[in-house]
Amino acid sequence: MDLSIPAELDMLRRLARRFVDDELMPLERDFKLDMLEELPDLIRGPLIGKMQATGLWALAAPREYGGGGIGLLGFCLVVEESYKCLVGRNLWLLGNPSGFDYQRPDHLERYILPTIRGEKRGCAALSEPNAAGDLAGIETTATRDGDTYVINGAKCFVSLAGKADYAVVLTRLKGTTRRDGMTWFVVDRGTPGFRVVRQQEMLGGYDTYELAFEDCVVPAANLLGEPGQAWNTGQERLGQGRIQIGARALGVAERCLSLATSYAKRRWTFGHPLADRQGVQFMLADSAVEIHASRLMVVDAAWKAERGEDVRQEAAMVKLFASEMAGRVADRALQIHGAAGLTKDLPLERLYRDARPMRIYEGPSEVQCWVIARNLLRK
Ligand SMILES: Cc1cc2nc3c(=O)[nH]c(=O)nc-3n(C[C@H](O)[C@H](O)[C@H](O)COP(=O)(O)OP(=O)(O)OC[C@H]3O[C@@H](n4cnc5c(N)ncnc54)[C@H](O)[C@@H]3O)c2cc1C
Repeated sequence: MDLSIPAELDMLRRLARRFVDDELMPLERDFKLDMLEELPDLIRGPLIGKMQATGLWALAAPREYGGGGIGLLGFCLVVEESYKCLVGRNLWLLGNPSGFDYQRPDHLERYILPTIRGEKRGCAALSEPNAAGDLAGIETTATRDGDTYVINGAKCFVSLAGKADYAVVLTRLKGTTRRDGMTWFVVDRGTPGFRVVRQQEMLGGYDTYELAFEDCVVPAANLLGEPGQAWNTGQERLGQGRIQIGARALGVAERCLSLATSYAKRRWTFGHPLADRQGVQFMLADSAVEIHASRLMVVDAAWKAERGEDVRQEAAMVKLFASEMAGRVADRALQIHGAAGLTKDLPLERLYRDARPMRIYEGPSEVQCWVIARNLLRK
């Protein structure tokens, strides 16, 4: 079995790495580290232009619509590079419209193409105050009324909703429970009854929001997919998302290990560099081994997903192992840096906080364990 990365994907990875090093790392050094997820428009606009010029924008969108047409494996490689830096990570995600049917001309003109061109952006609103990990428990309802639906409910922790032009919203048809009746809608910002309630400040500087839908009327044309079918379509998307989170965790962990390795060579205590100490060497070695294992898991799962295999089990394993791994690697890197690692002078403090939510979002570790065990016990 050949696990090497195909030459064209390796070229793409190197292109992404150069963009991160040349364009994003200098911004990381210039900015106050806690304000980085949402870049100011004056910086974001030109960066998107540069990504478009170098062929790095909208990589996952189909080529015939102006995207890069790369599969999950290539996208994971790019995401891994982007997560080594604290700045501009969402730029790699924003140009890739998700959840739409490209055969629908109205959605193509209104949402898909403007998103691929970088003119519009969306957010995904699934989580609710009473149901986030357990999405079958959502309470936001959609009630049919002639040619429209009326949406009522509350969403929370929605990433990047503050500047989104539209939200892809998970609802349930009025009167249904659990997996039955779950239905996707796209709702434009500015639709009466749809409100961004507040930003929810969070550890790690993530940019998440609470949303409200109060008698929010949307045309039936805003349905995504068939009414009541959202559970099935959502599962495949969640699986791919979990593999991609493995790639994010890899990026964070690699940056932490690289910082720790160079610091261990520079920092002397008791007449020797830290790198001479076996205790420190063991920490570096453990991190390198865990990163290598995670990379193999991400590549294997992404490759299988691209071939159309059912990867629900692998996706849960990747999400579990890689997100927990990033926490351990960041923790060791911080320990090696001593007090310097805790200061905001270095990116490590932020990388450490950054790694923590990965064990929670898109399904906490315990839920991944539960999924893995359930699949095993079913056999
Ligand atoms: C940074 C960040 C960004 C996010 N972005 C988005 C977004 O863009 N859109 C969106 O819709 N949501 C988003 N979320 C929400 C995220 O998907 C949920 O937080 C996540 O699914 C977990 O749900 P919860 O927080 O309600 O935890 P709960 O489901 O309430 O679980 C709480 C804890 O209980 C334990 N637990 C739960 N179930 C089980 C079980 N079956 N077995 C054992 N233990 C269990 C786990 O330890 C878990 O951490 C985001 C969250 C974060 C942190």
